[in-house]
This record gives sequence, structure tokens and C-alpha cells, in this order.
Amino acid sequence: MSSNDPVAIVTGGSRGIGAAVCRLAARAGYAVLVNYVSNAKAAEALVAEIVAAGGKAEAVKGDVASEADILKIFEAGDRLGTLSALVNNAGVVDVPQRVDEMSLDRLTRMFAINITGSFLCAREAVKRMSTRHGGKGGSIVNLSSAAAKLGAANQYVDYAAAKGAIDTFTVGLSREVAAEGIRVNAVRPGIIDTDIHASGGQPDRVAQMRGQLPMKREGTADEVAKAILWLMSDEASYTTGAILDVSGGRSTLP
Ligand code: NAP
Repeated sequence: MSSNDPVAIVTGGSRGIGAAVCRLAARAGYAVLVNYVSNAKAAEALVAEIVAAGGKAEAVKGDVASEADILKIFEAGDRLGTLSALVNNAGVVDVPQRVDEMSLDRLTRMFAINITGSFLCAREAVKRMSTRHGGKGGSIVNLSSAAAKLGAANQYVDYAAAKGAIDTFTVGLSREVAAEGIRVNAVRPGIIDTDIHASGGQPDRVAQMRGQLPMKREGTADEVAKAILWLMSDEASYTTGAILDVSGGRSTLP
């Protein structure tokens, strides 16, 4: 399937915030490449939902910790049409541990998925979108986290530090490609109601945190996706290197 519609690649698009971005991006007229790593059923169901609503979408399996898989994801994007947006959304947490308990395997996985994967996906996007390489420009949105500022002590300092790296990456890359038609921004979500907390062994985390949050409620994936869609869009044409807190006011330690 090739399309004249601008293509958006959403890593980790099968569930949570990524899936909400895919839905809104399809509604905004993008042909959406829905990347997933293991949950083919969720990705295919999302694609079917988007297509039934009149949008264009395709699912592609790939692990952003693998360079070979990333190349495959972007080749699938090329078959869909001209890349216009990348949302570096795929990300993982791990079970709560102190730094003095963390194994090399844990740290390697954490940084490979959350940092290196975002760098390699951005590399492939810039090669395609930069006017320096004959492209038409585009937009990259990275998923950081409020944890980048809070540090996540006794939970996952490794995850928080990975997101801190994403903040610096966003600022640096945005300046590198600002004159080449590409805007690079990030969002820092707070506590958002998705499966990520259960995947880190804390299924009750949202309920436990709710009362401590400034707005006394968690955010929804859709609320984060709306901010991402704005950053992707021409409405944000003079916004680059920005890191937007979408955290209901949760951005500093109590
Ligand atoms: P989620 O519900 O756990 O969904 C994770 C998504 O990423 C799934 O689509 C999953 O695919 C995919 N994924 C996981 N590992 C991958 C890999 N190695 N390669 C490719 N895809 C992979 O997560 P979420 O809560 O929506 O989080 C999305 C982003 O927002 C992450 O970067 C996260 O750090 C950030 N964030 C989330 C929160 C929050 O409270 N939820 C707060 C701050 C920041 P499968 O379906 O195939 O498993």
C-alpha cells in the first residue's frame, strides 16, 4: 500500500500512549505505521479500527533495541509513502530497584530501548526528512517523562536517567536539524493510565499515586497524544527543541 498522505511512524504504537497517537494521527490525515514488538493482536486490532474509520494504517513488528529491526520498520514506512513524522514512543520501565541492586542486563536493556532506539530511529528519520538529504522536512516527537526531573529514587533511576538523556537528545538534535526543515520536540508525561505500570510490576501504581497528584487524578493516553499531535502539526511551526510537561502539574518533588 503506497499513499500520497504524509506518513507517521509511531514506535510502540500498539498500546497506551502510542495507540492514542496512532488514532489521532490517522484522523489528522497521516498514513500511520504502527510499530509493536510482541503484541500483534493489539496492533492488528488498532489497524483494523483505523481503517474501518476511513484512515490508513499498517502494523510492523520490530524491536527498537535492534538496529536491523529499526531498518525494517523504516523500510516499511518507505513503502507506505513519504515520511513526515516520527514519534519515538516505545519505552519500558522495570521493577522497582535501588541503583545498588541493578544488573548490567537490566541497564543494557533499559538504555538500548529507551535511549539508543530513539537515536537510531531519529537517524533514519533525519536521513529521509532532512532537506540536506533531499527530503521535504518533518517533525520528530520524543517521549520523555516527568521522571527525568524527579529522578525516580527507589523505583527506577535508570529509567529516569534514560528520559533525562532523551531531554538532552531533543535539544541537541533540534538544533542540529533546525535549518533542514525538521522540528524536534518532546513531551514529559506524568502518571498516565496505561499498562506500563503493570509491566514494571506495579499494577496498582496509578491508584496509589492518585491522591498525591496535583490534579488528584492520573492523565489519559489521549491527553498526552493531543499534545504530541500538536507538536507534530504545522500549528507548532515555530516550536522546536521544546520539552512540554503533560503531567497535570507533577513536575517537581513535593
Ligand atoms: P505501554 O502502555 O507499556 O506501551 C508500550 C508500547 O511500546 C507497546 O506498544 C509495546 O509494544 C511497545 N514496546 C515496548 N518495548 C518495545 C520495543 N523494544 N520495541 C518496540 N516497541 C516496544 O507504554 P505507555 O505508558 O504508553 O508509554 C509510552 C511512552 O511514554 C514510553 O516511552 C514511556 O516511557 C512514556 N511515559 C509513560 C508514562 C505513563 O505513566 N504511562 C509516563 C511518562 C512517560 P507491544 O504491544 O508489542 O508490547
